[in-house]
Amino acid sequence: MIREPLIFDISDKGKRAFVLPELDVPPREDILEGLSLRDEIEGFPQVSEVEIVRHFTRLSKTNYCVDEGFYPLGSCTMKYSPKINEKIASLPGFVSSHPFAPHDLVQGNLEVLKTTEELLAEITGMDAFSLQPSAGAQGELVGMMLIRACLEERGNPRKIVLIPDSAHGTNPSSAHICGYRVQEIKSNEKGTIDVSDLDQHMTEDVAALMVTNPNTLGIFEADIKKIAEIVHSKGGFVYMDGANLNALVGICRPGDMDVDVIHLNLHKTFSTPHGGGGPGSGPVGVKRELEPYLPVPIIEKEENKYILSFNRPKSIGRVRSYCGNFLVIVKALAYIISLGPQGLKEVAEIAVLNSDYVRKSLENEYHLEYTSPTLHESVFSDKLQKKDGVSNIDIAKRLIDFGVHPPTMSFPLIVHGALMIEPTETESKNDLDLFIDAMKQIAKEAKENPEILKSAPHISYVRRLDETTAARQLVLRWNK
Ligand SMILES: *Cc1c(COP(=O)(O)O)cnc(C)c1O
Repeated sequence: MIREPLIFDISDKGKRAFVLPELDVPPREDILEGLSLRDEIEGFPQVSEVEIVRHFTRLSKTNYCVDEGFYPLGSCTMKYSPKINEKIASLPGFVSSHPFAPHDLVQGNLEVLKTTEELLAEITGMDAFSLQPSAGAQGELVGMMLIRACLEERGNPRKIVLIPDSAHGTNPSSAHICGYRVQEIKSNEKGTIDVSDLDQHMTEDVAALMVTNPNTLGIFEADIKKIAEIVHSKGGFVYMDGANLNALVGICRPGDMDVDVIHLNLHKTFSTPHGGGGPGSGPVGVKRELEPYLPVPIIEKEENKYILSFNRPKSIGRVRSYCGNFLVIVKALAYIISLGPQGLKEVAEIAVLNSDYVRKSLENEYHLEYTSPTLHESVFSDKLQKKDGVSNIDIAKRLIDFGVHPPTMSFPLIVHGALMIEPTETESKNDLDLFIDAMKQIAKEAKENPEILKSAPHISYVRRLDETTAARQLVLRWNK
């Protein structure tokens, strides 16, 4: 395979992507005076148009994406997103309207936002939504800020947030950034929250419990109502991390499970691919009690007209420009409307069925630390392969040779050598079978020829990287 050089290496002084005609008017040097203009950017690559296009086209072909193949990245829901939703989000009225356009000119956009809020509230059983947060993690922070604002008004913001040991890493960070101390709640042998441990930790110093349901092992917290009762009895709030709604959507509603605040990841469940730092959206839903604190502006309807209202004295304020990542929200709305209630229910049913199928097919080859029934994902480990000196990273890297993106690794922390697999509802049985065969082949190789795993991947653009050096000695700039 030919290695693509860095763009700095194909640079030659004086090359340009355009040639302007000779000026036929006197030059003016003073027009941009006073603006922060640079004479030159040191080392800036100079290439021709065709070189730029070919360089980036070749690089783009080395990327793996969900439009190319199976992407079983657990806790991330890398499902296929229908192209029709991209098409709708690229309609000229949506892409070319300005965030500061007067209300009268963008009534349609405001209706899109309001309708999405209402549908998300219906899907989750919550009372009100804010679409502002740009990501799941920001949604968590906003959720914690709402809780803090409410508790402060009651006279005491409290000190502690309880988080299960299986939680996503963003949960403790969000609680911490919001000024809370995190206390860990143990999981029991079933892989769910140990209710008696929660009972012991739940005091009047605790502001909230952050719970993920189904949790990151893919297991449904069946005691959620009891859990909520314990938290509420001491005046705390139940925060649900709803980043992965694929297992619940259309089937059951967090609001009915006595959850007080939830964030969703539209860029996991609702038709925007997750990852690569692309556009995201992490709407936050609340029960009535927390509604007064939601970020402003609030979209309201006044005499048949939508307006953006800032009249919320208790609001935590604005957390993002405009009303959120607008085009991601448009895609989510198109997705929800096109599937309808029945279609959304089928999403969850097939997501769970596909995950079950993969789990059943692999449970003899790969160890499952927790054997409780799982929903949209399951977490295997490398325990059986470890005996032959093969670890989860070797398995993950070898999958690349089979044309599969590696699964999520080493998370949740309570499973050693974890391989978290979430197939999603958009994979055909054919593709699931190809993946299962690859995993079985890898389990066989671990016993018979572990070297082939330790040196994998063999056919990818780059081979096994030295991750420590790559992380510690960043080379971001090439000096020719
Ligand atoms: C993805 C995820 C998050 C964070 O979402 P971002 O949009 O990446 O910030 C939080 N919790 C869980 C369980 C997740 O899977």
